[in-house]
Amino acid sequence: MEGGGPILSTEIPFMSEEEIEQGVRLSCQCKVKENIKIEIPEELFNVKEYTAVVEEMEDVTPVIKRLKLKLPEGEEINFKPGQFIQFKAPKYEGNDEEVYRAYSIASSPFEKNHIELFIGYVPNGICTTYVHKHLKVGDTVQINGPYGDFYFHEDSDREIVLVAAGTGIAPILSILRYMKEKNINRKTTFYFGARTPEDLMMTDFLKELEETMYDFKYIPTLTRVTEEHNWKGERGRVNVAIEKYLDSGENKEAYLCGNKAMIDTMVEALTAKGIPEELIYFDKFD
Ligand SMILES: Cc1cc2nc3c(=O)[nH]c(=O)nc-3n(C[C@H](O)[C@H](O)[C@H](O)COP(=O)(O)OP(=O)(O)OC[C@H]3O[C@@H](n4cnc5c(N)ncnc54)[C@H](O)[C@@H]3O)c2cc1C
Repeated sequence: MEGGGPILSTEIPFMSEEEIEQGVRLSCQCKVKENIKIEIPEELFNVKEYTAVVEEMEDVTPVIKRLKLKLPEGEEINFKPGQFIQFKAPKYEGNDEEVYRAYSIASSPFEKNHIELFIGYVPNGICTTYVHKHLKVGDTVQINGPYGDFYFHEDSDREIVLVAAGTGIAPILSILRYMKEKNINRKTTFYFGARTPEDLMMTDFLKELEETMYDFKYIPTLTRVTEEHNWKGERGRVNVAIEKYLDSGENKEAYLCGNKAMIDTMVEALTAKGIPEELIYFDKFD
């Protein structure tokens, strides 16, 4: 707010025009040479460190585990649907460094003493090998958060387009749970991209939402189905389903979650339909 000097050339590539106008600075670049006055975003005071217990762990696909973590008695996490936590993988046999990795929260923000995560296995990945090969129900884990500027925007009546692939389903589930519990009546379509029926998860829950939520439709679409799968649903990549079901981008906003390639393709497909770029929110997982 005062005393930080002019914005540096090392900061500019990471800032939007709006942020520059608002005086946002990168504290890792700003040198303190005189008294300065700063304002720290409110939500950063909300970040806490928790020692949580693994209460449930199950395979939801051959490569994705769903974890339910219980926070210590009396402690709460306050987050917006779509945000993530950092999960600490400790040292273990074959790994001699502690690392933190980001995982999106899948549970409802109204459930403040537990969080649910979906963690996909990455071959030779430090944290995911720990979760998939070492972690057990009853173990304690260190997490901190919440973080992230990918979250559900409540202040409109626009129709909602949700798109995810793989573990990108996690923040979308949190958004859907929140919408249901808060009775948010906005037409919503969730496109989920996967390879085979084995890669689909939370199907019963999503089907139930189609019955119980206001104007909600779940559209899974698969890229590698064979005759044996006997799949009656959509085939092809998500952009093919969007082409088929999304009439126009008018009065719509979108939330995308998954790998970079999927998000880049989807931003292109959705802007081509007429959804303005500033109404396409996304979280890239890689
Ligand atoms: C905001 C955010 C939210 C995220 N939420 C989730 C989530 O909900 N669930 C989830 O499973 N992951 C999520 N991720 C990804 C997660 O943070 C880790 O990057 C991932 O689990 C790999 O960690 P690792 O320690 O096992 O692998 P690392 O040891 O970091 O990586 C090992 C090798 O695998 C490569 N690699 C890393 N990630 C991938 C990948 N996804 N696919 C292919 N190769 C990869 C690396 O480049 C490296 O070569 C999220 C990431 C971000 C930034």
